[in-house]
Amino acid sequence: MSTYRMLINGEAKAAEDGSLLSVINPATEAVIAEIPNATRNDLNAAVAAAKAAFPEWRDHSIPERQALVTAFADAVAAEVESLAALFTAEQGRPLDLARAEIMNAVTFMKAIARFSPPVTVLEETPERRVEVHHVPLGVVAAIAPWNFPVILALWKVAPALVAGNTVVLKPSPFTPLVMLRIGEIVRGILPPGVFNIVTGGDQLGPWLSAHPDIDKISFTGSTATGRRVMAGAAPTLKRLTLELGGNDPAIVLGDVDIAETVPKIFWAAFRNSGQICIAAKRILVHHSIYDRFRDELAAFASTIRLGDGAEAGVQMGPIQNRLQYERVNQLIADSRSHGHVLIAPAWPVRPGFFIPPIIVDNPPDGSRIVREEPFGPIVPLQRFSDIEEVIARANDSEFGLAASIWTKNLDLADNIAGRLECGTVWINDIQYLRPGQPFGGHKQSGIGVEGGVEGLLEYTNTKTIVRRIAA
Ligand code: NAD
Repeated sequence: MSTYRMLINGEAKAAEDGSLLSVINPATEAVIAEIPNATRNDLNAAVAAAKAAFPEWRDHSIPERQALVTAFADAVAAEVESLAALFTAEQGRPLDLARAEIMNAVTFMKAIARFSPPVTVLEETPERRVEVHHVPLGVVAAIAPWNFPVILALWKVAPALVAGNTVVLKPSPFTPLVMLRIGEIVRGILPPGVFNIVTGGDQLGPWLSAHPDIDKISFTGSTATGRRVMAGAAPTLKRLTLELGGNDPAIVLGDVDIAETVPKIFWAAFRNSGQICIAAKRILVHHSIYDRFRDELAAFASTIRLGDGAEAGVQMGPIQNRLQYERVNQLIADSRSHGHVLIAPAWPVRPGFFIPPIIVDNPPDGSRIVREEPFGPIVPLQRFSDIEEVIARANDSEFGLAASIWTKNLDLADNIAGRLECGTVWINDIQYLRPGQPFGGHKQSGIGVEGGVEGLLEYTNTKTIVRRIAA
């Protein structure tokens, strides 16, 4: 079994006290590797290295930093096959989807490396010139979740570095291996201390949030943890970008081509075993087609091959970790205890955290399966009859991450899109994200955005320079 190392000041490091955590393959429940369980001193060393590296990194020209981030991305791309196998072993999803995430991360990094913080000239007269610059913040802590462990980490690392900051990344302890391996791959590319990776248990996140020498936290994870990060960061007034949970509605109007729409909606809800922040988590279907839509969705679900993502032909892997598996099972039990009708293919009998795709047939709005984010392969399908009603129900959530609308009537779709309270709306599409698009949550789905020049600017302070030329 392999023992991985952290990346601190350009060196591979064990925890100072030698303590380790196990990483489990969710399809087999076997321990596949061990990682360092960082002590506070280990974290202090990583933050000190990032702080010491900051002035020189900041003083690199923007094209120099962009070139090094591009070289970072190329080095990751060159190792995609071995990284994808490791990804599937720790995260569970099918190998082709693991490869896709890594290559998508590479594409995003390279695109971000073409963005530059703009300099805006507000006033230019014989007497005076007023310029607005965007300068780096210092040390950025990037905290990543386990559902997309590579792209969500690199989506923070790339803009933070391009903008001139140094970084301490904390992957999820459930899925640290690919990012630790990437740390080894890029070790010689960036100057020591510019990019550090620390791993550890539940204590590490709060230590990062409160650390006095960290200037910004860029966090992706659940809304509950986001609140803790914000509280931990308050005493030192850190900058924050919070990408949090979602409970996205998919609104299916009565005019859709059912056969064409069903597979799209199925994968919108169940890709990555439903563990996507922007999965369709409440499917609202017009009553005129509800029964047919439900039956065809259930028939499609019964064709899906569930299993170890490393096996050829598997379309859906396990839930990523035991904690999440138990959380989803609690929601299933809650739905059953309230008499909801659960439509599901046969349950697999095997080790691993497997749950088949489950459709809950028209549960009431107040039920937990509708109110909460399950983050697993279970989705409520609900009937609606009226556009005003469906908009109100779609917006009736503490979350506001994204939404989708499915219809041939594009004018009506535009009208609905304008009235949905969320950061992204897709019409006849879903989960379409490109590097230039700013992405972020409204309401309790987050603060700030990632992506686009707006995302780059989240890693900067605004600095206005007023130069008086003539007396
Ligand atoms: P999580 O909140 O449990 O953990 C996220 C990260 O925070 C992990 O690295 C974890 O170790 C760390 N962490 C845990 N406690 C911490 C604390 N007190 N302080 C600082 N860090 C701490 O989330 P998860 O279960 O890994 O991910 C699933 C959640 O993430 C879902 O709610 C999902 O919707 C959300 N998510 C959001 C987006 C988005 O872009 N909005 C993307 C992906 C996932």
